[in-house]
Amino acid sequence: MIEVKCLTVGAFQVNTYLIKDAATGACAVIDTGESDDLVERLQALQPSPDVQMILLTHAHLDHAGALVALQKVFDVPTYLPRLEIPLFETLPEQGTWFGAPHMNRPCGRIDHLVDDGDVIQLGETTLQFISAPGHTPGQGCYYDESNIFVGDTIFAGSVGRTDLPMGDPILAQKSLAKLMKLSGKLQVHSGHGAVTTLAQELTSNPFLQFLR
Ligand SMILES: [Zn+2]
Repeated sequence: MIEVKCLTVGAFQVNTYLIKDAATGACAVIDTGESDDLVERLQALQPSPDVQMILLTHAHLDHAGALVALQKVFDVPTYLPRLEIPLFETLPEQGTWFGAPHMNRPCGRIDHLVDDGDVIQLGETTLQFISAPGHTPGQGCYYDESNIFVGDTIFAGSVGRTDLPMGDPILAQKSLAKLMKLSGKLQVHSGHGAVTTLAQELTSNPFLQFLR
């Protein structure tokens, strides 16, 4: 079982997550924001979290841009979806895409590339990885029996845009259909906005009408 703390950080107000395995206290950070904001927020926590890994849902600047800053403080294994490598390699220029070259960021170190169906052990919690490309080429989600961390695949009442470089609207629809086959009870923790559940989105999200 995990405890979930949402930390909304940076200029893009991205939701990053500190998750803690309740049995052992082992923690993972999911996504980084693009600035030192998350590092400062984590360092201010008492007691200090026992961060054992960094998990990236995808490689957009607002989710992965502060990886180097985070790794300076938490030198721990870092996971990236394998299909996300081409986008990850563009971090030094993504700020320019958004008209903000001062936000170009170095790439940071990746220790593990994850593929659909992979499992990651955090203390006594088993996290599963499900690939859900479309918003980006390798966008993925991490989940246990109660929670799913979806990056920018789906939001409360909306879905991730697919018009950015390497986005693919057809793939995104397939991925949404795939995610909706998971348990509807899963609490959805998105990259932006409020918490929801898969069942709630399947019922009410206007962008999932094609699945109803
Ligand atoms: Zn994104």
